[in-house]
This record gives sequence, structure tokens and C-alpha cells, in this order.
Amino acid sequence: MLGDDPSRTLRLRTLATALAAAMFGGSRGADTLPGMTAELFPPDRLARAQVATAAAGLDALLVTPGADLRYLTGYDALPLERLTCLVLPASGPATLVVPTLERPRAVESPAGRLGIEVIGWGETEDPFALSAGRLRDALGGGTVAAVGVADRMWAAHALRFADSLPGVRQRAAGTVLRELRMRKTPAEIQALRDAAAIIDAVHEQIQTWSMVGRREDEVGRDIADAILSGGNSAVNFVIVGSGPNGASPHHDTGPRVIEAGDAIVFDIGGTTPEGYCSDITRTYVVGHAPEGFAQMYAVLQAAQDASCAAVEPGVSCEDVDRAARDVITDAGFGEYFIHRTGHGIGLEEHEEPYIVAGNAEAVEPGFAFSIEPGIYLPGRYGARIEDIVVCTEDGVERLNHVDRGLVTLAG
Ligand code: ZN
Ligand code: ZN
Ligand code: ZN
Repeated sequence: MLGDDPSRTLRLRTLATALAAAMFGGSRGADTLPGMTAELFPPDRLARAQVATAAAGLDALLVTPGADLRYLTGYDALPLERLTCLVLPASGPATLVVPTLERPRAVESPAGRLGIEVIGWGETEDPFALSAGRLRDALGGGTVAAVGVADRMWAAHALRFADSLPGVRQRAAGTVLRELRMRKTPAEIQALRDAAAIIDAVHEQIQTWSMVGRREDEVGRDIADAILSGGNSAVNFVIVGSGPNGASPHHDTGPRVIEAGDAIVFDIGGTTPEGYCSDITRTYVVGHAPEGFAQMYAVLQAAQDASCAAVEPGVSCEDVDRAARDVITDAGFGEYFIHRTGHGIGLEEHEEPYIVAGNAEAVEPGFAFSIEPGIYLPGRYGARIEDIVVCTEDGVERLNHVDRGLVTLAG
């Protein structure tokens, strides 16, 4: 699976090298990938965000650590009580305000190559007042009426900003940045492809393991190890839902001992050193399928295929959801499909767009999201099939390629 495309193999090797550098070189993965990071975090992104900020009627974005900051600057900052904040005015120079003790990390990160001034603040200074002052300076002393604060900014920080910028309206920066982040660049799509290849390989390992007599959480720990040793820098989640536990979509992997005749939902994901997420679900049966399961699974697979096939530029997110839901409802399982069909993915494992009834937004080339219908019969079993897909110029590309048919594990 991994070896059939030499360029992909090479990219994976690059990732592995980066991981090794991250582990042994004492610095983080993204900062050790100059070529790839330059592509992933292009310098024009800040300017495009400024245009979008002005168009939204905001004077600035205040972006604290999280996916938005990494998206804009490449800086994978630590989310701490000490303030780190990108002050991005709608026009004029951007400033990255960081604790002085973290300034070296910030300057070394891709942010240090974007021409942003990186200002350190000392332990006795007020970084909120400092940021507010930089913002007013950048805007030429004009009045500040409204700012966008990062969706993941801590409430404690947002409230301090409210004090330092009295009378200034705060809005969610996500309303501006979603327009950029939803439209993945070719480099981002490649990063998602690489992430998918790593997690696909983990699922192919799982298929070779014996399950009977093992606890869900023991298997879960092995999966977490495989997610890391495959080239990820973080395990995002591992769901092992065996037997009746599979009927709880976000089951907490626990002490239940796996038996022959169980169906098991494996939903797993990680983050690559570049920061991009993977997310895949497959449902396997152990030894033999429980009563009625194969028929239900066939419906689910048809639904997942129908939903993927519905993806093309211009189709609405809710129509992609409906394509899966109609198949499941027509087969009589509608009341057992209890969640939306999917979610966007990128630097976050769940981001916009959401593939859900009521979301009339049109899918565009570059949108990346999951297609993950499920059917859950309480007290009996559940099943989900999940792939990450990308809308292309004329259709869809699936990023995950693990067998979607009903796979029976040996035991
Ligand atoms: Zn989920
Ligand atoms: Zn998932
Ligand atoms: Zn998902």
C-alpha cells in the first residue's frame, strides 16, 4: 500500500526523518522541515487574512496559540497562561507578542521567516496592554472598533483583552479564517494525504492482530504505539468499541474483553509532525459476524459510497449528508444513524465544513472532510465507515484506501 508510489514513499521517509530530528534534535517537527513548511505556510497567507479581516469589517485579528496561529504563521506555540498572541491588523505590520523565554522558539519557527516582528514581554509586563498598544500603532492611532479573537483563545485572555481594549467589540476570528482554512492548498492536501497513508498503515496492522481474550484498552494502547511509530507526532484519539460498546459512537475504550463473534469499531487518528490530522474508522468482525450484522453492514457501505460519490464542486454539505442518510433510511435503519455524516479536517481533527442537514454551503475544490455514516443498534452492536475525502475540480479524491468491505479478523 505504501510502496506503490515512489514519491509517496519518499515523502513518508522525509516525515520519518523529521520525526527523528524532532525526537533527537530537541526541536519540533514542523520547524525542521524548511522546504515543506515554506509550502505549507506561504508568506502571502497573512496578507490574505488581512484582506479577509478588512472585508469582514474588523480592525484586527488577535490570534493566540492553536490551529489558527499555526495556519497563519507556522508557529506551533504552547497554549499557556502566559500570553502569546499574533496581532494582525487589517492593514499594516503584524506583530507576534510572546513571553521573552519563548522568543527563541518563536523566531526559530516558520513565523521567524515571515518578516513579522517578534516582541518578547518580561514577567512583570502587561502583555495585553502591550498588544493593544501595538495594534493602535499599526492602525496609525485610529480608533479600534472591532477585533476578531481566535476561536480557541482562553476566556481568561479574551476578558483581559476586553479590559485592555475598552469598548472594542470582540467577534470570533473563525468567521474570517474559516474562508481561508476550508480551502486547502495543494501542499495542505498533500500533507493530509501523507497523514492518511500513515493511519491507513496502522489499520492494516490491526487487521493482522488477534483480538479474542484481549481488553479493548490493551488493544487501544497497541494502536496508540503504532500511530506514533508510523510517523505521527501525536495520537489524537483511539476508539475501540467492541460488541455492544460499538453502538456508542464515541465509546470510551475500556476493560471489556473481546469475544469471538464481536463486531468492533476502530476509529483512530493522529497528527503528523507538520501538524495535519488523520481520522479513519473501520469496523471488523472477529471470527464470524453476529446475527444480522452483514446485512446492516452492506447498507452502511452503500451509504458511505453514495455519500462519497455525491461530492463534487457545487453540491451542498447537506446534500452530501442526505446521500448517505437516504440509503440508511430507505433500508429501515434511519433512527439508528444518530450523528452528522462528517466534519472538515486539517490542522484540527474537527473543523469546518460540517457535513450536516441545515448546512447549505456549497462544497468547493480543496475542501477536505470526513464521510462517516454509522448505524448503531443499542445493546447489540454498531458500525461506522469513515474516510477523509477532498473535493477536486471535477469530483472527489478519497485519501483513505483501507478495504471497506466486511473484513473478518482471524480471532
Ligand atoms: Zn467522531
Ligand atoms: Zn473518526
Ligand atoms: Zn471523524
